Amino acid sequence: MLKRTRDLIFLGCITSVTVVFLNCNGGMNSKAKAASTIQDTARVDSIPLMPIADTLDGSITKRLRTKISIEADSLNPISRDSLLKLTKAEQRRVRDSARLALDEKPKHVYFTFDDGPLLGSAAIDSIATAKKIKINAFLVGRHANMSKGLKRDFERYYNNPLVDCYNHSYTHANNKFSAFYSNPVGAYDDFVKNEEDLTLKHKIARLPGRNIWVYEDVRKLDLQSGASTADMLFTNGYKVYGWDVEWKIHGLTGKPLQSVNDIYKSIRRFMDNKNSMEPNNVVLLMHDDMFQNKKGQQLLSALIDSIQVNTDYKFEFMRSYPFRY
Ligand SMILES: [Zn+2]
Repeated sequence: MLKRTRDLIFLGCITSVTVVFLNCNGGMNSKAKAASTIQDTARVDSIPLMPIADTLDGSITKRLRTKISIEADSLNPISRDSLLKLTKAEQRRVRDSARLALDEKPKHVYFTFDDGPLLGSAAIDSIATAKKIKINAFLVGRHANMSKGLKRDFERYYNNPLVDCYNHSYTHANNKFSAFYSNPVGAYDDFVKNEEDLTLKHKIARLPGRNIWVYEDVRKLDLQSGASTADMLFTNGYKVYGWDVEWKIHGLTGKPLQSVNDIYKSIRRFMDNKNSMEPNNVVLLMHDDMFQNKKGQQLLSALIDSIQVNTDYKFEFMRSYPFRY
């Protein structure tokens, strides 16, 4: 711990000459004094270097997202350029320390499957059971009512404790998304119909054709169309979730648009860079009909194996999202 503190202080020292003067506290010349006033401001404004919270209080995530600002010192001004450099260095220092702290925390991956029940759902259900992983199904009620077979597939999901069933609307907007979202009340009612028809237990939704997130303090839209529907869902107790990474496989042939390795690396990149919607949480989007073919099913198994063998990521339900450290 002490050694790390020292290392980080050393890192702090090399971010700029002014910091060297301050931290190493040698005899200050006048230039250094001017800079030190600014550095003092930086020290007051920035979040301390080493608080490592062990709880889910969101403090490290907050640190990662903090925008550093350093006030110009009107008495002993330095150039705009220097101030900008100092601010950038300070921002980097705070973010890097937050990333290091997050690296030591658990990591969570969410496998989400949209549009089921469809051909492919039964295989997904079996794979989740075989691999003993939690998965998330965003369901379309209309599909469950299309045939006895699909109704059965829905029931398999519903009764599997490793599968959480969530709301992806009853009609899937009939795939006419702009028209669907142009009537937010109608769209909202479609979600309610789905909730009732499938007796869904969790108020968690994903909007068809949209990567929109509205939950807790987050509101992020890929397109404005759909925003009102998402807001109505949120106002009525729903959490609306999008995704960080999407995997595409041709359903009929099982031919992947991205290889297992591509997707595995993509998930890792988000986890390592802390640039998913929530750091240490990565949401993967797939569609049930991608896994109607044996080849596709083998790819899904292979991806799960890669994660289980090479990482300590935990497979989670979306109802636990996000784990904020
Ligand atoms: Zn969909």
